[in-house]
Amino acid sequence: MRKRVAILGAGPSGLALLQAFETARKSGAEIPHIVCYEKQGDWGGLWNYTWRTGLDSYGEPVHSSMYRYLWSNGPKECLELADYTLDQHFGRPVPSFPPRAALRDYFLGRVKQSGVRPLIRFHTAVQWVDYCPERKVFTVTTRDLLRQRLNSNEYDHVVVASGHYSTPNTPDFPGLDQFSGRVLHAHDFRDAREFAGQHLLLIGSSYSAEDIALQCHKYGAGSVTISHRSEPMGFNWPEGISEAALLERVEGRTAHFVDGSQREVDAILLCTGYLHHFPFLPDSLALRTGNRMYPPGLYKGVVFARNPDLLYLGMQDQYFTFNMFDAQAWFARDLLLDRITLPEPAAMSADMEHWLTREAELETAEEEIDFQAAYMRDLLDRTDYPALDVEAMADQFKQWLQHKQECILGYREQRFPSTLTGTLAAAPNTSWLQALDDSSESWFKPEAEETVAEPRRVAHG
Ligand code: FAD
Ligand code: NAP
Ligand code: MG
Repeated sequence: MRKRVAILGAGPSGLALLQAFETARKSGAEIPHIVCYEKQGDWGGLWNYTWRTGLDSYGEPVHSSMYRYLWSNGPKECLELADYTLDQHFGRPVPSFPPRAALRDYFLGRVKQSGVRPLIRFHTAVQWVDYCPERKVFTVTTRDLLRQRLNSNEYDHVVVASGHYSTPNTPDFPGLDQFSGRVLHAHDFRDAREFAGQHLLLIGSSYSAEDIALQCHKYGAGSVTISHRSEPMGFNWPEGISEAALLERVEGRTAHFVDGSQREVDAILLCTGYLHHFPFLPDSLALRTGNRMYPPGLYKGVVFARNPDLLYLGMQDQYFTFNMFDAQAWFARDLLLDRITLPEPAAMSADMEHWLTREAELETAEEEIDFQAAYMRDLLDRTDYPALDVEAMADQFKQWLQHKQECILGYREQRFPSTLTGTLAAAPNTSWLQALDDSSESWFKPEAEETVAEPRRVAHG
């Protein structure tokens, strides 16, 4: 009997696995019976923008954490898919940093062509997964949101691809409950124009804090103060954005910081990251981890060592995204096709230990990038995924870090060459700061291209 595989989530990770299986099927392999459950009405995961926050129209938590005017924060050349190049999709050179909609079109372009959509049950939320050790079978219980019906089905394998940037981590601070301005988490941030003219306090010092600060600055915030726990980001911020020590307490509209300084603020945004949250999994199957380069307990970052019939995709902190999901998906596919055999538990533990030791030695962002490239290389060498120069991509990521240091407002005007095709990205039509319209059409305007030879540099403070 054919194996039965359930994939939970049709974001970039779940779609990568559908693509991997479809590639094998087209070359003659017999593939398992596959069902992909997706609670949203469309594929695309976090990349589906919605105005909604809180619960959706069916009472399910809203998944997306993306906001209007979000532009890629990394060069698209570093997420290029080896079997579906940027050239194949865009047809001509386009800038390195696309707005959300254009990147969404890119990774969906591949699965539109391969025709895997019928394998996805949309509007279907996974409610619970059980495992019977005697029968070695998972029971996946889902809710059909349109008909409000529960269904249970049995699978030999479950692949969790439900993402980990959706459930907010929300620390409390004394006085927040008395604060008369708005308090929200980055997950619920939707439109920077809401904060035009306001003095904002952002808490956190990672990508969300950085990008939401830039967004709010771009769309007219009065000022942005970024409060950090560990390290300030230390960019050469434009006038109007500054960094402060950790928030200690709020009194009225005054934010007091641990170094004794204070500031009047109108709204507070918690850019404090997300929880790996799997409300549909029993303790024995749930991955317990923070946002880190090598979540413990996952052999090759994919196989749940306590029960290797359960796989996870995309659970790492991410420099690499779409192509890392591909590296994992091709590996997961080959495991499920019995092309790759798992080693004994002791050998799996030793391998995980090796990577965890390396992870513990990481100190800089550059080292994290090399670590993730090495991790991908380890996976890529085990499958027939087309050649991908992850080491060259790692070098591009390091240039990107440098560009951000040089000019945090202007790094999105840099142009990178594709490591797959050599195509050099086009210059953007306008600077990111001036690009107030984030539609694909505006970004991709061909007629403007000839008139702008070089990216314009933006002055910064
Ligand atoms: P997700 O995209 O989160 O997809 C998971 C899917 O699982 C969703 O469709 C969800 O609806 C579904 N799901 C969850 N729970 C259930 C359930 N119980 N039942 C059924 N379905 C369920 N990456 C980049 O490369 N470039 C960027 O510019 C970039 N910007 C980002 C900006 C923000 C604000 C955030 C939060 C992340 C950003 N990322 C970016 C990283 C992002 O994590 C990846 O690009 C990618 O979306 C991860 O794919 P995924 O499939 O693993 O998870
Ligand atoms: P993150 O990288 O996990 O960072 C979480 C931040 O919250 C850290 O700075 C952490 O500080 C801080 N924090 C956590 N608890 C805290 C507390 N109690 N008090 C103070 N600070 C606390 O999460 P993220 O920044 O939300 O990024 C998530 C993902 O979204 C990333 O993959 C990122 O690339 C993506 N993203 C992309 C874009 C874009 O492309 N335009 C925009 C936004 C986000 P410590 O350092 O002290 O732990
Ligand atoms: Mg980090």
